[in-house]
Amino acid sequence: MNVADSARLAAVLDAAGYQPIRDDIRAFEPLFGHSGSKADIRQLAACDLILVNTCVVRQSAEDRAAWYVTSLKGIKELNPNLKIGLCGCLVPEPERDLKKQFPHVDFFIEPNRPEKLAEFLSNSKSESRSSKETGKNSKFEFTSDFGFRASNFVTIMHGCDNYCSYCVVPYVRGREYSRPRDEVLTEIKGLIEQGATDITLLGQNVNSYKFGFASLLRKIGAYCPLPLGEGGKPESQRVRAELVIRFMTGHPRDMSDEIIETVAALSYVAKDFHLPLQSGDNEVLQRMNRGYTFEYFLGRVEKIRSLMPQARISTDLMVGFPGETDEQFENSLRTFEKIGFTMANMFAYSPRPRTAAAKMPDQVPEEVKQARLKRLIEVNREILINRSVQPQVL
Ligand code: SF4
Repeated sequence: MNVADSARLAAVLDAAGYQPIRDDIRAFEPLFGHSGSKADIRQLAACDLILVNTCVVRQSAEDRAAWYVTSLKGIKELNPNLKIGLCGCLVPEPERDLKKQFPHVDFFIEPNRPEKLAEFLSNSKSESRSSKETGKNSKFEFTSDFGFRASNFVTIMHGCDNYCSYCVVPYVRGREYSRPRDEVLTEIKGLIEQGATDITLLGQNVNSYKFGFASLLRKIGAYCPLPLGEGGKPESQRVRAELVIRFMTGHPRDMSDEIIETVAALSYVAKDFHLPLQSGDNEVLQRMNRGYTFEYFLGRVEKIRSLMPQARISTDLMVGFPGETDEQFENSLRTFEKIGFTMANMFAYSPRPRTAAAKMPDQVPEEVKQARLKRLIEVNREILINRSVQPQVL
């Protein structure tokens, strides 16, 4: 979601005539550790504008974001004309006085508000870079035109109404909002016409897309060509024949039979399901407010595999949720054997402000959480190696 949000912000800058100083912005990460060369620092200090897009889903992400922003203070001292913007999920944190914490930051933008960047640019002295002069298209909302993407992201919905007890997303990204279907389809059509062959539909929970996720997947078919015939096909048609549509992420509770059957039936939809299980223990799932049991989750996996034996099913698993006992942790461990995930993102529970879980009694000590996480990763690795699958630990 953050990469897609960055794409939208980058599109605003592009429309206003800004140029990135490097193609791969991640090349600047060493600078924040002060291991960049003097030339790197001079290049960064010569910028007109630096945006930091932040994530607060876990404490470690929030700490890293705060560290980046703090590091920019020295850069601003080298170039007082530099404008710094702080964007993303750190901004709506009411318990933090961001202006006090980061006095060198010029403006703040909440998630899903790229128009605020456009407002700042038009009010700032950078008017000489206006889109009128550059002649660029000033349309920026939800655009996917972004240089350093792994896929073409199309946000179909954002926000979340689920209020899982550990999750800060509903507080920082707001209530669920689904983009109108025609708008989404027009964007996808435009990407395909530009030659995109790999498109990822994004949302906190694409399965609850208000206008019908299965129906959206079927409608995309109108833009897919027939398979390649004898030679002589135009280039655009050859590209379209390779089109793959992916989606992430879907709440297991909302993974309906209709969605599974639609994915199975459509050749252009990747048979990849990211289903965040979070815990293999029913009592923990209930306290997480996840709205399903492990048996229900297993039923979804079985339905997927009965229709698509080749489907890749990945998950998220969290250890050390408040009150998690050794036995409950063992139930999570056993899910690897029972389900055989292609990949698992594994985390230690991180208390987030304003969430119900942060106030729960029996918080698990950090060393216990870390020991459980280590064991979870090891068990997953062993199982994947036994199945001759390359482990992927994120
Ligand atoms: S479904 Fe739960 S975990 Fe996922 S974004 Fe919504 S509240 Fe967070």
